[in-house]
Amino acid sequence: MLIGRGLLCFFIAFMFKIKAHRCKDCGERLIGRSDKMYCDDRCRVRYYRSNNQLHLIKRGVDQILYRNRSLLIRMRENMKSITSTSEARAYWLRRKGFDFNFHTHVLTLNDGRMAIMCYEEGYLLDGNGVVPWSENHDRVKALIST
Ligand SMILES: [Zn+2]
Repeated sequence: MLIGRGLLCFFIAFMFKIKAHRCKDCGERLIGRSDKMYCDDRCRVRYYRSNNQLHLIKRGVDQILYRNRSLLIRMRENMKSITSTSEARAYWLRRKGFDFNFHTHVLTLNDGRMAIMCYEEGYLLDGNGVVPWSENHDRVKALIST
């Protein structure tokens, strides 16, 4: 008689009162040592590779967001010396390597305008240009905790 692997594991775990847990990759029920995390090497390697790829993507996005935030701070702090118009500011950001595809969130202001944010630093769209916008740290923390 054929018994499915999952059912067999459950039965063994039940009979011997072994704490059952699941493979981190495929979710299959595991029995045996309590520190066993994977069915086999294939699951272990697959889990490592998928997590490593995700880690590389996250690190790349973090670098872009960090650069965007730094440029927004520089633009806001040196607005008069760097740029004079909103169009010139957008051009300055682009020239410095700002990536307009990446931001952390969009903030709706009391007057209905939308601020595009990189953490607590952001900008408002103004025609073909941008106007710097920064948000109070406490308000950003409150947004994150809700
Ligand atoms: Zn597995």
